[in-house]
Amino acid sequence: MPIDATQPYDDQNIFAKILRGDIPSKKVFEDEFALAFHDINPQAPHHILVIPKGPYVSWDDFSAKASDAEIAGFVRAVGHVAREAGLVKPGYRLLANTGTNAHQEVPHLHVHIFAGRQLGPMLSR
Ligand code: 5GP
Repeated sequence: MPIDATQPYDDQNIFAKILRGDIPSKKVFEDEFALAFHDINPQAPHHILVIPKGPYVSWDDFSAKASDAEIAGFVRAVGHVAREAGLVKPGYRLLANTGTNAHQEVPHLHVHIFAGRQLGPMLSR
């Protein structure tokens, strides 16, 4: 079910559990600000999720409330993960679904990194 991006943070969400180490993930990167891991249901040959360590529901919540250091750290982490995976030259796509119409399903901000094939048009028509 898509979530409402204005809802309060729920620390029982699946990515909060991954951050706490309560459930496993295939980690590709971690630093003070971000964790990156493989999506459990990949939609492209490379499908990595990058999440901030702080408790932010969505891009809206994060962009409004995170500190400058958290925002800079997170954005740099997304770029670093894609670069380290060798995705800059072939190209990659970032996606941050936010709220109901975008079909955001997990109420902890996550940026999808898709790559590894021609990704086609930006949205289905
Ligand atoms: P959203 O629709 O919220 O933008 O995307 C949520 C993503 O999280 C989906 O691509 C889904 O496959 C992924 N996902 C959901 N549960 C898990 C999980 O437990 N582990 C991992 N690694 N990915 C998950």
